[in-house]
Amino acid sequence: MTEIKELVKNQKMMYRAGKTMTYTYRIHQLQKLKEMINRYEPRIYESLNKDLNKSTYEVLATELGFLQQEVNHAIKYLKEWMQPKKVKTPTSHKGAKSFIYKQPYGVTLIIGPWNYPLHLAIAPLIGAIAAGNTAVIKPSELTPYTSELIEEMIQETFEEKYITVVQGDKDVSQELLEQPFDYIFFTGSVPVGKIVMEKASQQLIPVTLELGGKSPCIVDRDAKLEVAARRITWGKFVNAGQTCVAPDYVLVHEDVKQQFTEHLKREIEKMYTANPMESGDYSKIVNDNHFDRLTSYLDEGDIIYGGQTDRTNRLINPTIIEKVDWDSKIMQDEIFGPLLPILTFNQLEEVYDHVEHSRNPLALYYFSENEKNQEWITKNISFGGGCINDTMMHLGNNQLPFGGIGTSGIGQYHGKYSFETFTHEKSVLKQTTSFDLAFRYPNSKMGRNILKKLFK
Ligand code: NAD
Repeated sequence: MTEIKELVKNQKMMYRAGKTMTYTYRIHQLQKLKEMINRYEPRIYESLNKDLNKSTYEVLATELGFLQQEVNHAIKYLKEWMQPKKVKTPTSHKGAKSFIYKQPYGVTLIIGPWNYPLHLAIAPLIGAIAAGNTAVIKPSELTPYTSELIEEMIQETFEEKYITVVQGDKDVSQELLEQPFDYIFFTGSVPVGKIVMEKASQQLIPVTLELGGKSPCIVDRDAKLEVAARRITWGKFVNAGQTCVAPDYVLVHEDVKQQFTEHLKREIEKMYTANPMESGDYSKIVNDNHFDRLTSYLDEGDIIYGGQTDRTNRLINPTIIEKVDWDSKIMQDEIFGPLLPILTFNQLEEVYDHVEHSRNPLALYYFSENEKNQEWITKNISFGGGCINDTMMHLGNNQLPFGGIGTSGIGQYHGKYSFETFTHEKSVLKQTTSFDLAFRYPNSKMGRNILKKLFK
């Protein structure tokens, strides 16, 4: 394998040669990526099953389906996205025309996490290719089968000097962060996000940080409880809760708490059976550290449903916990597992104080039939994105930018936002030379008066 330094240098040369600038080149690469995903479909199911015990349904719904949609969308709109945009020019600039050119950044670095290892390595890549960049991908070391497969797929499909994969842990990641990349796209945890930003700042490399946080799920008194319970069950327990936008905890109105939790238990059993860990179709926890971290939370509060664990196979059944508060260990950090604490509120305004404990969540979900309250939540609480009366579905609409705010991240992507993320908007003013208005120059007699009028 080529040394990291050499690899980046080769990509710089490739980029400078200008090959990635044309529509023809980019569309061809996107087609190749699309064929690659289709060609490897059976192996993708296999490797994600080995790493995380993901079922075929989950792989299709949350990894493959999403990527297919993204690449098809990019292929359809690439030409339109690439066009320079003509914008207005003020009268003070008589004779000139103004344009925004869509300039690729150059050589980009994509660092991925383990929870959706294929999706979160390839989705940013679609944006990088569409925008005309080259890319180095560093997938997670915690999902070795999928990361190896990503390397094999990329190696077989693209030239190394255009797109390549570097495997490794945090040391390799840090070595990559020393290189003179032109853009860094990072998906992962808040602590590592800070390291990435610090490293990038030393070379003033622009970054996108797709991070996490504690995403609240609020169920109000007037919510349709059965459907709320069903949609929360799906959002929370898919991939055994190891999803960045999974509902972290539920805040339910005190008047409907009892009824809601009964619905929740029923929906879990309908969707996953009474003992999912025996079904063979339920995702496992990624490693022993995470398993031990999650099971240590089981000593807190009262478990009112689930709680069974299997360390050998790293499985934890869907679990509902009550009687926890913001001092409990489970409420300190993102849970990232199939444990769902239930907290209560009386007045909608209290939601604000709850969310303040873990500010700027990546997602927020609010269940209510009251439009005024829906508006209040949407306008008054800061969060990356979310849903009213649903969970996680905002991610699947590529018309919506996906990203965090504050501690949950910087920047956004999906659909045309992926293209924009990997594109520098270069402003160019084209001036005529057939005349030259004198008033702009300091020796013009009328200059001051004309300028005063123009700027009023
Ligand atoms: P992580 O931050 O531990 O690792 C992410 C990547 O960073 C991996 O490739 C890893 O090798 C690398 N890395 C780890 N330590 C590093 C260091 N010290 N220096 C440089 N690189 C380092 O995250 P994870 O555990 O793989 O993923 C889970 C986290 O990711 C959760 O917090 C989750 O919310 C977040 N996440 C966010 C999104 C999103 O789209 N916003 C999506 C999925 C996951």
